[in-house]
Amino acid sequence: MQALQIHGAQDLRLSEIEPKPLAPDEVRIAVKSGGICGSDLSYYFKGRVGDFALQEPLVLGHEVAGEIAEVGDAIQGLALGDAVAINPARPCLACPDCLGGRSNLCRNMIFYGSAARMPHAQGAFSDFVIARADQCLPIPENMGFPIAAMAEPLAVALHAVRRAGDVMGRRVMIAGAGPIGLLVALAAKQAGATDIGIFDLAEPPLEKAREIGVDAIYRVGGVDNPLARFEANKGVFDVAFEATGALPALASLLRITRPGGRIVQIGMLPPGDVTLAANLLMAQEIDYLGSFRFHEEYQMAVDFLASGKIDVRPLITGTYGLNDADSAFEAAADRDQHIKVQLRFER
Ligand SMILES: [Zn+2]
Ligand SMILES: [Zn+2]
Repeated sequence: MQALQIHGAQDLRLSEIEPKPLAPDEVRIAVKSGGICGSDLSYYFKGRVGDFALQEPLVLGHEVAGEIAEVGDAIQGLALGDAVAINPARPCLACPDCLGGRSNLCRNMIFYGSAARMPHAQGAFSDFVIARADQCLPIPENMGFPIAAMAEPLAVALHAVRRAGDVMGRRVMIAGAGPIGLLVALAAKQAGATDIGIFDLAEPPLEKAREIGVDAIYRVGGVDNPLARFEANKGVFDVAFEATGALPALASLLRITRPGGRIVQIGMLPPGDVTLAANLLMAQEIDYLGSFRFHEEYQMAVDFLASGKIDVRPLITGTYGLNDADSAFEAAADRDQHIKVQLRFER
């Protein structure tokens, strides 16, 4: 079968790879749609994501949906031809974190398309991918694979909003109008946040934010800082989400989050030790929380997409065939033109 394999920075190959045999508790899925994520882009352009560098060829991709093409002997409740959104997380379900309901923190996690462990967890940008039954969420017929492939990044956003606690009626600021920042805006709105702002260095993603109903947009990085007025009286926002991974964005959030407020870190900050104004956390009792991937929010994401309560269609801005993968990755990195770029798998 064909798979999109990254061999090093800027070295993406459509390779012929050997399909693996199926275990009794697994299914084989013909992949139909796959979204390109920030981590895929980082492997593509830098050969690494944060602290994790490529040590062997890696099939990219973890935002996928497809159709069941083969079922293991022990599988119940899934049949050939079923359309499914595929949860790329395969936690062990046996460690203390899994048993404690936080399987996103599983010490034995296998997550598609990640170089976090060796051998690397191969990804899902391939003709077929193998999954356990619990990774497969059936989708309604009219939903479509491109929408289903958005369940993964939406789950990341839903998890982040959940980490923030009750956002009902709260004033929210989001750093970064990329796919995750925009999905956080949609998720926060769905959860009842009434006043949502977002800031970014670039204008086009901010226009998209306006289009999807974000209340206020702020372009930062110019001579005037539009966020400066929120610094008065030690900050005004109840909840802030950091979805850029850039330290200046976090620094801004620390200054504009109100005393007793909460900041959720979603973006991956630069590797190694970083410097931040930590005394603001202390003196203003700001809760600073990490948010990593998701657990049952994946099912919630599929439900929100199936019911139409969260509409992600405006975020899918480009679709490319597998043979055009380099163009797809270049497009996905072009913030002036694109939010979420997806690959279409056709056989
Ligand atoms: Zn992703
Ligand atoms: Zn586990």
